[in-house]
Amino acid sequence: MIRTFDARCRCGQLYEVFERGGTSSACPRCGASGPESRERLYSPLAVVGTGDVAGVGRIYPYFDRGLGRMVRNRQERDRVMVRRGLQEWEPSDLERAAARNASASAARKTRIAARQEQLRTDPAYADYRRAVDSGMVAERTKKTQQAAVRAAEKEARKCR
Ligand SMILES: [Zn+2]
Repeated sequence: MIRTFDARCRCGQLYEVFERGGTSSACPRCGASGPESRERLYSPLAVVGTGDVAGVGRIYPYFDRGLGRMVRNRQERDRVMVRRGLQEWEPSDLERAAARNASASAARKTRIAARQEQLRTDPAYADYRRAVDSGMVAERTKKTQQAAVRAAEKEARKCR
């Protein structure tokens, strides 16, 4: 579980703090970290758009939550940042890893859902469904479901 909040460092820098377990991000300007180095801010702050450091994965135009306005492209966003004296916050390895895990797990869920949909509707698995309906194949637990999918795939290949 990652907690985020806005903070003002003792050096004056405003930034978004990412906190996980006992670890939290450091000030991007002076490197200070820990609760004693900063003051937590509760008002909305125009500081950060995470995961957008290289402009990757962003579809323009979009409403930038950090800036509180629409931006039409990366260049406009950069100009607004400079005009307001804002700095891009670079996600640490920790947050990058967390984001990677989240997207891998989402991809896994999508694959499983697609497979289950296939088992339910694909004509290639009609025999499998009949077997389930007639009780020849016991109701699957999550663990044995993958094995069932593999078996059904093998069966389907034989039939073609
Ligand atoms: Zn600082």
